[in-house]
Amino acid sequence: MAWRSSGSSNAELVGNLKRNGVFSNGRVSEAMLAVDRGDFTSSHPYEDSPQRIGYNATISAPHMHAAALEYLRNHLVAGANALDVGSGSGYLTTCMALMVGTSGTVVGVEHIPELVTLSKENVKKHHRELLDSGNIILTEGDGRLGFAEKAPYNAIHVGAAAKGLPKALIEQLAEGGRMMIPVAQADGNQVFMQIDKIDGAIRETMIEHVIYVPLTSREKQWSSR
Ligand code: SAH
Repeated sequence: MAWRSSGSSNAELVGNLKRNGVFSNGRVSEAMLAVDRGDFTSSHPYEDSPQRIGYNATISAPHMHAAALEYLRNHLVAGANALDVGSGSGYLTTCMALMVGTSGTVVGVEHIPELVTLSKENVKKHHRELLDSGNIILTEGDGRLGFAEKAPYNAIHVGAAAKGLPKALIEQLAEGGRMMIPVAQADGNQVFMQIDKIDGAIRETMIEHVIYVPLTSREKQWSSR
């Protein structure tokens, strides 16, 4: 599945992801069809691979965006409240916002101010109404602390690899909610984890090995340039 879905347009990319069995039903593919990845990166936007967006950040690969949305799809329903930590280019935040609809909200938290500005410009290219209406909120901050103001969240996506599960994010997850988060292990490998909150208890499920940029401090991200 991974890497094999590149296309020459957004529609072809999503069509190839579909052919490769990435989607379980129409909701995720519809959102990805409606959000042109070319609005969020000018470098090889329709290749199924991550691309650099500056500031030591990347826009994740389309098959990883698709996988994250698939795992969160039953929590990204009409009216849901969601959080996208490390929102970077703003691409996934926009897909999430289309899935929760006009009665839902998605907060994107990003710690590089220039990326917050860039992501707003990206969203405005074809989905300005989502920002104007407040369906999307893009804000600067340390995503390890979540965004308490709008908590609790039915769905949380973390786009960078954490050292363990950030306590604030667990706290801000709603009852019945789900978080998808890459977690760095002691051996340096990263595992994509599914975290469900059921009757107040946390259930952790390991999904697969992944490679994400670290969820870290702004200073560390800069110094690793
Ligand atoms: N999901 C986004 C970006 C993925 S890259 C996209 O696909 O476009 C991960 C992002 O997390 C980067 O933009 C990086 O700047 C951001 N990040 C890393 N640590 C962070 C932190 N502590 N708080 C907020 N954002 C962080």
